[in-house]
Amino acid sequence: MSHTMQAAVVEQFGQPLELRTLEIPSPGPGQILVKTEACGVCHTDLHAAHGDWPVKPKLPFIPGHEGIGLVVAMGEGVTAVKLGDRVGVPWLHSACGHCEHCMAAWETVCAEAQFGGYTKNGGFAEYIVADPNYVAHIPAGLSAIEAAPLICAGVTSYKGLKETGARPGQWVVISGIGGLGHLAVQYAKAMGLHVCAVDIDDGKLAHATQLGADAVVNARVGDPVVAVRQATGGGAHGVLITAPSLAAFKQGVGMTRKRGTCVLVGLPPGDLPTPLFDVVADCITIRGSFVGTRQDMAEALAFAAEGKVKADIELQPLSAINQVFERLEQGEVPSRVVIDFH
Ligand code: NAD
Ligand code: ZN
Ligand code: ZN
Repeated sequence: MSHTMQAAVVEQFGQPLELRTLEIPSPGPGQILVKTEACGVCHTDLHAAHGDWPVKPKLPFIPGHEGIGLVVAMGEGVTAVKLGDRVGVPWLHSACGHCEHCMAAWETVCAEAQFGGYTKNGGFAEYIVADPNYVAHIPAGLSAIEAAPLICAGVTSYKGLKETGARPGQWVVISGIGGLGHLAVQYAKAMGLHVCAVDIDDGKLAHATQLGADAVVNARVGDPVVAVRQATGGGAHGVLITAPSLAAFKQGVGMTRKRGTCVLVGLPPGDLPTPLFDVVADCITIRGSFVGTRQDMAEALAFAAEGKVKADIELQPLSAINQVFERLEQGEVPSRVVIDFH
């Protein structure tokens, strides 16, 4: 094995990534080394590279939190995986395991949590160091490429839908039909929900219809809140906002049915002004949702292994990462780009 690897590195916020040749990291006690086969490109990687959020990653860093690969080396004391296992290195890179949230199986909000491709180097590299207790276990029958979008976009959409509390036969709105949203439509249909898809791009909406959406609304045409309330007979029981746009968040609250739940997963920088009278008088719940726990991950992967959910994937080499970022920013990626390391 050579001692160096190729990686795409953020050296300054708001600048193109630099392709670098780096030393292959070695796993410490309790850690594993994963040889990357594939890594999806999430809109979060753009926020990370732009330094969009209040808590910023330390420069330089390697983004990417949809990395899938094979365990090729292990530090001392690793028992949770074996050499040769196919694992995913997700956003939730690790957590403490013993705080009140970890003990309640809410490790996603652990104060000690580390984030892949953010506080820890991620999957835009030929090798990734991971914590074996927090990696995703990829079911036999799913290729690395197929699995990549599921370990962030998939689990986040699936968990967000669960957090709406919507039951089979009820309506959900999915706002933003990109990487997360095109999977959310499929999870929602597999969960027996009626789906109203909202986006600003007719191509994305046509795709949503192909994937089984029962109604579509273009948020750039007329008043999308009125259109959704009409399509769903008074608003959706659950609303899932994946769009990285503040306008979509304001509209999403208005699309929520009385006593319904609006789940926020998109992460554009900024604040959400809330119409207090409507939220109070209609008894609406507004709730954040952050990726998913390890159990959510196993469930989200199982839907795909059973053939009920399949990501739409465009393959690109690591060397194209800056063009991919540019297109993602412009809304020109149809669903998900996966970097192919084969
Ligand atoms: P993406 O770029 O693939 O998709 C975004 C979609 O939103 C596109 O289809 C775009 O056309 C659509 N859109 C833009 N403006 C809109 C509007 N006003 N109304 C409706 N649709 C609109 O992005 P992605 O990878 O799916 O990520 C989406 C967001 O989710 C990002 O902000 C990302 O950081 C966030 N995210 C959050 C979590 C979490 O745990 N909460 C996890 C992953 C991603
Ligand atoms: Zn992500
Ligand atoms: Zn903890």
